[in-house]
Amino acid sequence: MSGPYFEGQQPSPCGHYYPDVLRLRDEKRPDGTFVRILHCTQCGEREFPLDPETLDPSLVKKLNRKGVVAGVREEKLAGVRRKELKRLSSRRR
Ligand SMILES: [Zn+2]
Repeated sequence: MSGPYFEGQQPSPCGHYYPDVLRLRDEKRPDGTFVRILHCTQCGEREFPLDPETLDPSLVKKLNRKGVVAGVREEKLAGVRRKELKRLSSRRR
């Protein structure tokens, strides 16, 4: 499996494409940096720094308040990928 899955799709920071790459969670670390933890079918679990300047302000607010914002739960990864791949392929002409 590999993307891109639709025209103009931008790769995730690891170079692979949604829904091979799904977001497990975003975190604000004690040192004040923001990170995104992604799960990729090719790379496994990896984390990437987030620039709060380019983030959705409501996400920054949540991270400041809670420290963690959850994405897809680990046990749901396979199901979400299957469903999203189906949705994306049905969108194709
Ligand atoms: Zn990857």
